[in-house]
Amino acid sequence: MIQYVHMFSEGDRDQKDLLGGKGANLAEMVKLGLPVPPGFTITTEACRAYLTEGRVPPQVRVEVTQRLRNVEDLIGRTLGDYEEPLLLSVRSGAKFSMPGMMETVLNVGLNDDTVHALASFAGDERFAWDSYRRLIQMFGKTVLDIDADKFSSVLDAHKESAGVTADVDLTADDLKQVVAEFKQIVERETGHPFPQTPRRQVDMAIEAVFRSWNTERAQLYRRRERIADDLGTAVNVQAMVFGNLGETSGTGVCFTRDPSSGHIGEYGDYLPNAQGEDVVAGIRNTLSLADLKQRDAGAYRELRAAMRSLETHYRDLCDIEFTIERGRLWMLQTRVGKRTAGAAFRIATQLVDEQLITMDEALERVTGEQLSQLLFPQFDRSADRTLLATGMGASPGAAVGAVAFDNASAEAAAASGKSVILVRRETSPEDLPGMVAAAGILTARGGKTSHAAVVARGMGKCAVVGAEDLVVDVAAKQIRVGEHVVHEGDTLAIDGKTGEVYLGDVRVVDSPVMTYVSEGLEAAEAHADGDDETKQLIRAVDRVLTHADKRRRLRVRANADTGTDARRARDRGAEGIGLCRTEHQFLGERRQQIERVVLADTDEQREAALAELLPAQIEDFVDLLTAMDGLPATIRLIDPPLHEFLPDLTDLTVEVALAEAKGETGPEVDRTRALRDAVRAIHEQNPMLGLRGVRLGLKIPGLFALQIRAIAEAVVRLRAEGKDPRPEIMVPLVGSNRELVIVRRQAEGIIAEISRTNDQELEIPIGCMIELPRAALTANRIAQTAEFFSFGTNDLTQTTWGFSRDDVETAFFPQYMQNGVLTISPFETLDALGVGELVRIGVEKGRETRPDLKIGVCGEHGGDPESIHFFHRVGLDYVSCSPFRVPVARLEAGRAVVLKEGVGTS
Ligand code: PEP
Ligand code: MG
Repeated sequence: MIQYVHMFSEGDRDQKDLLGGKGANLAEMVKLGLPVPPGFTITTEACRAYLTEGRVPPQVRVEVTQRLRNVEDLIGRTLGDYEEPLLLSVRSGAKFSMPGMMETVLNVGLNDDTVHALASFAGDERFAWDSYRRLIQMFGKTVLDIDADKFSSVLDAHKESAGVTADVDLTADDLKQVVAEFKQIVERETGHPFPQTPRRQVDMAIEAVFRSWNTERAQLYRRRERIADDLGTAVNVQAMVFGNLGETSGTGVCFTRDPSSGHIGEYGDYLPNAQGEDVVAGIRNTLSLADLKQRDAGAYRELRAAMRSLETHYRDLCDIEFTIERGRLWMLQTRVGKRTAGAAFRIATQLVDEQLITMDEALERVTGEQLSQLLFPQFDRSADRTLLATGMGASPGAAVGAVAFDNASAEAAAASGKSVILVRRETSPEDLPGMVAAAGILTARGGKTSHAAVVARGMGKCAVVGAEDLVVDVAAKQIRVGEHVVHEGDTLAIDGKTGEVYLGDVRVVDSPVMTYVSEGLEAAEAHADGDDETKQLIRAVDRVLTHADKRRRLRVRANADTGTDARRARDRGAEGIGLCRTEHQFLGERRQQIERVVLADTDEQREAALAELLPAQIEDFVDLLTAMDGLPATIRLIDPPLHEFLPDLTDLTVEVALAEAKGETGPEVDRTRALRDAVRAIHEQNPMLGLRGVRLGLKIPGLFALQIRAIAEAVVRLRAEGKDPRPEIMVPLVGSNRELVIVRRQAEGIIAEISRTNDQELEIPIGCMIELPRAALTANRIAQTAEFFSFGTNDLTQTTWGFSRDDVETAFFPQYMQNGVLTISPFETLDALGVGELVRIGVEKGRETRPDLKIGVCGEHGGDPESIHFFHRVGLDYVSCSPFRVPVARLEAGRAVVLKEGVGTS
């Protein structure tokens, strides 16, 4: 038969699924022999049964009776006793902590009779009546669903008429009156008197905790935290101990190490003569543990011993709640404590030094997310600030600068040494020069995968997007937000983590960990000067990251388009380039050259335009391959949606219409008209699904050839300088093997020709992106031609789901998040069930044909921790991400090896 109710002494910490986090840890403390008030846990299984059946299984009541009797025997008090009544706390405790989401009822067992017994047993009438009013208040709110304000307004009225401000100043008589009025509220609101039978109170409280699993608040929290809806919560029923029985009692929380800095040594807050909630509520100033030692050396010693034994046992920082009842210590709760990012790294390495954990375990205890938090510059939180608006934090970091609305002014301001915030309604590839010049990017529209967000993340630049309160008027060069008007050149500060936009300057502090990952340990330590705290943090990060490098199987490359980016990536540990988006090399001044290639009327015109581009392309690749000398560099042939390289059709149409209306004629107007017609002829309704990638290469003769030639020429040039260039040619948006065959033949021809002319053997691998479902499904055929694959999970996500990455995030993702269709954007974390399945199939089929096929990923997901674990599991060889994310990817690739369980695959 299923056992629904377990005494604390029956369980242990490994039973979190069944007993919830709190219950499992209480059981573990009992096992360790620590002083835990006796109690029992009703399992999550009972909760699940309640949720399906709509009532508490009768067997639960029977088991509760048995365990309750055990508790009474252990403590020597009985529920409802007229002399020494047992009082209970009833608390929820799910597998994952859901702070503030679920319910707690304290002092269960008090009624009109036992309140007197409690008064004489405690020797404190006021205490007894205060406990009773707390019970009715909590029970009324959480069990009986009565509006909490009804109770607090009665309390406030009494405080006012007694002329006091704090609850503690109400006398026993005041509280008796409050209790009487509280009982009236209950009767009025529910039609029944406040339940006087203690056991009935227990049963009702248990049911209320089960019910609270499905409150709207709890459901929302679970969706946000990606906690499954069907886990259910456990309920812990435990004998009450009192920290508010006078000056020899008290309650506190403590940590075995400092969770904010990672300092060794205990740390905590203690409040004499108080109950648990008072510490958290911050009603009075708390004392330190050193003060506790002064007041009660015995209890303090016992607490220290308990802390040490918990830390030894859990081998980690523990977070503990305790109560001292008349000099006697009781442990109420413990768990492995939450900590800041910096503390996580420091504590992990401290524990290694103390030989409590291994280096592998240290790696398990930190996350890529924590590392990335340590990499971003931050605003000085103590500085004065004026909040102007809040958008979405799309690319973390902090930036302060003068507002610029277009490329020209952004570049001019940057050239004069100013820090710039580029502000646009939204960005497009046209804005790239401005984005490069800017320290931060702010848009009024767009979501986390809008152009601004993706490009900014790629550059490791701070961005806030979708700040919808901003009315951006680019023509007038101003932003309006309510009454505020911000002009070009005014200063704004943006926080890419929180999405906050501030008016004026806010101090930014640099990240020492960033100095470490880009300049190395020695430089970072020198930078930290005499600051020991910082040095310890840097060393901790260095040790863990070095260990991750040792353990990981996945190689880590970077997405980099220029020599500068490539060098930056290499400094941060990139082992090659996984994606060079060559279309970025054709923006700015060279855009018109591409325009001439695309719109050429004759072969001669086109060839002339292409020939003009060749020298510059060679320089691009020389620069890139120099920076990556000796390491592989995957260069992707041009992949733009065509419209990005052409003038805007609407602009051209307007220009022609205006000229015609004014009766203007001449060669200039003819030229514009011809251009309009040409652009109209190739205008696409849906350019992202149109003439892109390999399709463009096959349609416009010479375009790919130019790039292939430039790559081969760059190799020849660098080899002559004694260098070791290792380019790989990658073809984008392939859907059919035949497409690749055509490009491959052409490429082989060009490479052979250049080999011959220069009398050297050029071996340049040719592969393709797998970014269309068809490519993944026919990967066995494509692998006949491709020497390597790289999954383009951005396009693969958009084509698998059939939604446009530029539009959907703001259009309906918020609703999809709310109603649970999505828990996280599939553009951020790989949708393992759908897109991931295509990746798995692609890998399997590709290697069927070519067992040694090298396979990587270069979509945004290559830098996302959860996705990296997935790529590790499906057997990819490398991930490629933005230079900024390289250290994070190194860490997570190491963690993927040591973690026993895979992380979130749903
Ligand atoms: C991709 O589609 O995942 C990719 C890397 O290519 P892009 O983002 O340039 O389309
Ligand atoms: Mg793509």
